[in-house]
Amino acid sequence: MPEVLREYRIKFEKVPEGEPAIPADENLGIRSKLGGEPIWCQKPEVPKCKGCKEKMTFVAQIDSMEHDEGHNPNRINCLGNDQQYMFGDVGMVYVFVCFDCMETKSVLQCG
Ligand SMILES: [Zn+2]
Repeated sequence: MPEVLREYRIKFEKVPEGEPAIPADENLGIRSKLGGEPIWCQKPEVPKCKGCKEKMTFVAQIDSMEHDEGHNPNRINCLGNDQQYMFGDVGMVYVFVCFDCMETKSVLQCG
């Protein structure tokens, strides 16, 4: 893996109330988002703040966004050995913050 990863621009779009942020099907690789509830790959794993011991607030999830499937506009051929954003087997990185202590933690789950 290179020292610096390939760079992607992110366009933020507020999700209208009642609408899902992520499609229910054919969503592998396109599940990155901010806020709401995490879409867990495995069982929920909300970390506790090491400062105040309270559950931390979910801020973001970053998908294996180069996953090689037709619905994914950023797919990279999985046979070419050039995928950089692949967390285990199409896993996800979850980012949490405690806004009282300004602590952060991330959790990685494999798909
Ligand atoms: Zn805290």
